[in-house]
Amino acid sequence: MPPATPADPLRLGGLTPLTTIDFPGRLAAVLYCQGCPWRCGYCHNPGLLDATAPPALPWTEALAFLQRRRGLLDGVVFSGGEPTLQATLPAAIEAVRGLGFAVALHTGGMYPQRLAALAPQLDWVGLDIKAAPAHYDAITATPGSGGRAWAALDVLLASGVPFECRTTWHAGLYDLDALHAIADALRQRGVRHWAVQACRTAAGTTPGWPMVAEQVAALRAGFEGFALRGA
Ligand code: SF4
Repeated sequence: MPPATPADPLRLGGLTPLTTIDFPGRLAAVLYCQGCPWRCGYCHNPGLLDATAPPALPWTEALAFLQRRRGLLDGVVFSGGEPTLQATLPAAIEAVRGLGFAVALHTGGMYPQRLAALAPQLDWVGLDIKAAPAHYDAITATPGSGGRAWAALDVLLASGVPFECRTTWHAGLYDLDALHAIADALRQRGVRHWAVQACRTAAGTTPGWPMVAEQVAALRAGFEGFALRGA
């Protein structure tokens, strides 16, 4: 019997059939949601930004794939693009949970109220904290973006859902002192897991990354989980 589908299907740009790194402790598939309201210069998935693009992967096909993977995978990650852009996300998550999968969300945190409503359906969240609020708009090309992302962090802290903050950095975005200030702000809020990810420029380099690597002990202090990724 085919799995139940929401009335309005989720728009998907594609999927990764198996990942061991996107949902801690789970063998998972990743569903890439189409559309994002922000325009970060370093976006790794520009093909997913246009919310009006026709879905590259029909929702029914994604659900049929997941049904065939029952017993082989134990989790599904909703990534993007920005999953919370789509009003059909809660129904899509419910359909995936109905197949017996745990659910993770990757989000930029631009819709804190939607995130608060989704939290009871989620087993884990990866939240981008791209910068301090004052540096956000220059990265996302979107006014007011920093307040939204940091409000989403407060939502997650209040929800009790396990999560990791991710900060993508190179020295051209903001300096190392500002990166340490983010670490301090996260510690003060009670964040337990933080990852700093190397941001490559068009030239393929990550300016300043050796300095980050040298200061890893100071950056990781106080976090239960810490990772340096890339470069
Ligand atoms: S929020 Fe994420 S998906 Fe959206 S433009 Fe920025 S990096 Fe790309």
